[in-house]
Amino acid sequence: MALSGFETPTATEWKNNWWQRLFNIRNKIIVPYLVITLFVAAIGTYIVTRLVAGSLQERLSNQLIESGRVATESVVRREAQHLEALRLITFASGMEDAILAEDTAFIDVVISGLAANADIPDVAVLNQEGQPLATLGSFAQGDFPFDQSAAVQAVIASEQDDLGDKHGEILTQTDPPLFALAAPVISSTDPARVMGVVVVATPLRDILGQIKLEALADMTFYASSGELVSSTFVLSPNERNTLSLSAPEIEEQLQLIRQDQESETVEIEIRQRDYQGLYVPFRVRGQTVGLLATFLPSEFIVLEGGTSARIFAAIFGLAALSIVLIGFVIASNIVTPISRLVNVSQRVTEGDLTQRSTLPNQDEIGFLGFTFDIMTERLEYRTQLLEITIDALKAETARLSSILKASKTGMIMIDTTGQLSFINQAARTFLEPILRPTQRLIEYLQNLNPQDMIEINNFILAVEITAVVSPDQESVGTLVALQDITQQELAGRLKDRFIARVSHELRTPLTAIKGYSDLVMSTIDFGKTPKTRHVVEIIQQTELLDQMIVQLLAISQMSAGTFSVRRREMDLRATVMQAIEGVKPRLDAAQLTLKFLETGEDFAIHGDEQRLRWAVDHLLDNAIKYTLPGGTITCHLCALGNGEIELIIQDTGVGIRSIDQPHIFDAYYRREATAPNGDVIDPRGLGLGLYVAQNVVEAHQGRITVESTLGEGSTFVCHLPA
Ligand code: ADP
Repeated sequence: MALSGFETPTATEWKNNWWQRLFNIRNKIIVPYLVITLFVAAIGTYIVTRLVAGSLQERLSNQLIESGRVATESVVRREAQHLEALRLITFASGMEDAILAEDTAFIDVVISGLAANADIPDVAVLNQEGQPLATLGSFAQGDFPFDQSAAVQAVIASEQDDLGDKHGEILTQTDPPLFALAAPVISSTDPARVMGVVVVATPLRDILGQIKLEALADMTFYASSGELVSSTFVLSPNERNTLSLSAPEIEEQLQLIRQDQESETVEIEIRQRDYQGLYVPFRVRGQTVGLLATFLPSEFIVLEGGTSARIFAAIFGLAALSIVLIGFVIASNIVTPISRLVNVSQRVTEGDLTQRSTLPNQDEIGFLGFTFDIMTERLEYRTQLLEITIDALKAETARLSSILKASKTGMIMIDTTGQLSFINQAARTFLEPILRPTQRLIEYLQNLNPQDMIEINNFILAVEITAVVSPDQESVGTLVALQDITQQELAGRLKDRFIARVSHELRTPLTAIKGYSDLVMSTIDFGKTPKTRHVVEIIQQTELLDQMIVQLLAISQMSAGTFSVRRREMDLRATVMQAIEGVKPRLDAAQLTLKFLETGEDFAIHGDEQRLRWAVDHLLDNAIKYTLPGGTITCHLCALGNGEIELIIQDTGVGIRSIDQPHIFDAYYRREATAPNGDVIDPRGLGLGLYVAQNVVEAHQGRITVESTLGEGSTFVCHLPA
């Protein structure tokens, strides 16, 4: 079954809207999950890499400190080695005399042997003026300006420090620069006298090379001025300049060293290689003569750090990927049944009620699917029921509509907004001349009164107007029913005309009979002879007949609407009393009591005495007919304050059913009355008594009403203008 009318644009729109689909549940789960995982992975990689790099840096720093320590020790050892050589030379036998005698040959032999033994390449022996007597190695390569050597000058001047009379220095005047120690040759006779000076030295380059081997780090020596004096690096002059330090920088490092702190690690780049360096003091004979920088390549930190970063990034990346994959599987597990539910609900929305989610009823979503299926099943069942009901309703509506259409009664329905909502064929036929325009028709119908009789289009129609309400008492509109009474009405009129005519015609012979009777009466002898009695009877019956014909005529005038009364001054009390007198003989027979309640005064009115008597006669006649033996009839005549006279005729009779009460004043309307014991009382009558009474009272501009209770009695009240 298809409920295509239920196809919602929103469902289709949702299906086609990629933007909305982007925010589907699957993405809502996976995207934050992915972002968090990647974030954690990135942070993790970063932290671990930093830790690795940190530990590598620490290792390097420790290694630098260790190298610095080894370098310092190495310098100390070299100093000791040089001191040993100095001692051997200064205390060599014959040295003092050889210096005094300036026996350079002797001195050469001594120092050559000792220097070779002590592995010292450069040796110089000076006289007490500081003039060289014998030189070896670098000192032998030219005129070395010993007068510029602070150590030599200190020795000549016999200066002593905490460590004694030997002095050390880095000689930068030579090429290559030298690590040098100088000691005095003391006079054997006068210990205060300096006979000569012995200088032992080693190229600084060699010392640094040796230290490099021991400390496994590159070494660079800076003079106190900041100048780079020697280095194990092979440097271009340009690089030398850039590697040099300024005096304040040197001072700063020295300051740190003096405070027994380690110098700061420095970073340099030589030939595109990164190094980190640490400064240690270069001390000779306890004096800091410069700074020794130990350099270790730091590339391995970056390299290893980079490698570990890659490894960890890969590990974390893999972990993140597997977490995301697991997340995807979990999300899919959750989302797949939801998607199924969404698809099914969409198809159900589009009208396919046969769709079921059939999700396994394991979890909440399964249960949701289960409830959804039950709901859809019920919906399907109800829809089927609804369709059956709608079909039945349609059939019923069609049936009713054809009944209404076929009905001979004209039916027009006007809804609450005043629009014509239905009109059947009969009504169309009756109202044919005023069907168009519709608005005129509606106005015509709205001006009709219930119980009206209208003549239109050669039809005589009885109008009935009914307010139509729904079962829940809501106004639906107004139904105007038009009953075709043309035949009855015309027949009635014909009958009335015939009766009037006949009554009229009957009176002519009757008048003649009455005239002759009177004549006979005047010609016969008075006395109670049978003849006289017969003539009197004929006269009375003729009068009764004449009265009946007059009444018949009056009734036909009433139905034709031409009835009128002839008014004269009269006393209503007298009329009522005459009527009571007239019925008195019947009261005894019927075993009834009649009371006349009155004040004794006259009630003068302007009225038709004969016709009023006729009305009162009918009311009294009914009271007698419909009251069981033993009952009471009460007549009451009084004047009301408003100038009206009220005549009440009350009985304790069988009463009138409330459904009959609105109709008893209609012409020819009769109902057989029932006694409380169930016996039917159906006295003779034509159903015209109350009709006549009402017409007479109303012709006097009065009104007549009834109040009656079944089994208790009836009260007829007439109001007449005085
Ligand atoms: P009818 O000739 O039948 O009396 P009426 O027009 O006088 O005709 O009365 C109409 C109907 O009203 C009667 O058939 C009767 O059922 C009822 N009716 C009139 N008067 C009384 C009354 N006093 N008590 C009970 N029923 C009455």
